[in-house]
Amino acid sequence: MNNKFKIAVVGAGASGMVAALTAAGYGAEVTLFEKKDRVGKKILSTGNGKCNLGNLNFSTEQYYCRDKKKLHKMFCVFSVWDSLSFFESIGLMVKNKNDYLYPRSEQASAVLDVLRTELVRRKVHIATETEIVKAVYHKNGKCFELTDFFGKTSCFQKLIIACGSPASLKRGDGLGGYNLAKGFGHKIRQIMPGLVQLRSDECFLKALSGVRVQAGIRLLVNEKEEGCEMGELQFTDYGISGIPVFQFSRIAAYALNEKKNVKVIIDFFPEQEEKCFTVMCRLRYESQMDKSIEEYLTGTSNKKINMVMAKQAGLKPGTKVEEAGWPVIWKLMRQYRAFAMHISGVNPMENAQVCAGGVDFGQVSADLESEIVKGLYFAGEVLDIDGKCGGYNLQWAWTSGYIAGRNAAEGPTGKNPENEKKQEILSKDKERC
Ligand SMILES: Cc1cc2nc3c(=O)[nH]c(=O)nc-3n(C[C@H](O)[C@H](O)[C@H](O)COP(=O)(O)OP(=O)(O)OC[C@H]3O[C@@H](n4cnc5c(N)ncnc54)[C@H](O)[C@@H]3O)c2cc1C
Repeated sequence: MNNKFKIAVVGAGASGMVAALTAAGYGAEVTLFEKKDRVGKKILSTGNGKCNLGNLNFSTEQYYCRDKKKLHKMFCVFSVWDSLSFFESIGLMVKNKNDYLYPRSEQASAVLDVLRTELVRRKVHIATETEIVKAVYHKNGKCFELTDFFGKTSCFQKLIIACGSPASLKRGDGLGGYNLAKGFGHKIRQIMPGLVQLRSDECFLKALSGVRVQAGIRLLVNEKEEGCEMGELQFTDYGISGIPVFQFSRIAAYALNEKKNVKVIIDFFPEQEEKCFTVMCRLRYESQMDKSIEEYLTGTSNKKINMVMAKQAGLKPGTKVEEAGWPVIWKLMRQYRAFAMHISGVNPMENAQVCAGGVDFGQVSADLESEIVKGLYFAGEVLDIDGKCGGYNLQWAWTSGYIAGRNAAEGPTGKNPENEKKQEILSKDKERC
């Protein structure tokens, strides 16, 4: 170890803990500040308590980011494979479920436990219940002076801001990182809820509330397609939820904020090709003419959906299929393929899994160092980068934490002897998986 930089990491979430561990592994003396009573609390609620910590099906396409080239460079420095090696090197058994990575125990607490144990092992000073409310850089002393909530100050040579975002927190909470960044002259890109439910004022929602169905969903902003997803769609009394909705919710959030027209088009037969669908409908029509509309639709989709479809087509459930005639039946069935729903809003930040926007990625280098104040670094969700569902946000936390921690401690060419040997052994994992 050729230095003993004093480094402060503000925020002991996923990215802050990895930043602290990495910096300590590179020989720095690290203090990790956390305003809550325990470190890494959010990790416990990830992946429905199972913690989807990464995804082997990886590309920067899974991220919303203004500079994909820079982002790509960073994932080359610390990839999903490096996270896998890192977690195995600190004792976590990881399992691969169709490319989605989880702790083998399927307990998020296992991820937090190995990180906490390693923080102790690498002698990171942990200061919980310590909210940093002010940070200034003193040019003469070349140090960052931090002030906590109680007015206590401490000085460090390097500072890593890893304060996360307001996502999933109560209103007004979680803005501390942005305030610290603003204090150094950093620009904050408008924040919006991401991975969140969409709201609608369509009256059929009351009837559909509680329905879960496989569907294809397209997002239209001012009639232009801006997203297309497939998966389990959930209807609620206020709108729609589920992973396919989450994936493009941040696009809807920004569009609605700009007063654009937003709607979704739902395909309740995403598995069927258009031709097969037409033939299937016609054959069913010919063989079920003597039935009522309600009987004809039985089993087509969820019963609540069928009733809404009939109502939207202006048909009474008791009307005979023959009486309605093929053009009307065809119009009814077409609705299943392109069911339009106006979107009036998104749920608030408290309901969001991530936050879009944040500290401008354009004002940090690929080493995650501030381009305004040298020695200042950022990691995690506090930055203007958000990923889709599927382990991509935690992946960003690990990657950015590693890069910020390493560069703060040593600069990009530094080597960590302790880790190098382990990484060499564990790189065999890449072949094994
Ligand atoms: C319900 C839910 C489920 C999720 N599931 C997944 C999943 O399965 N897979 C996935 O990839 N992503 C998931 N995410 C997203 C993922 O959890 C986050 O992207 C990730 O935790 C962000 O890490 P972070 O370190 O940037 O921020 P955080 O984890 O939010 O950590 C920031 C920390 O900083 C502390 N802090 C803030 N300000 C200060 C201050 N001024 N002083 C001191 N401390 C401060 C906070 O208390 C917090 O502990 C989920 C999110 C939620 C809410």
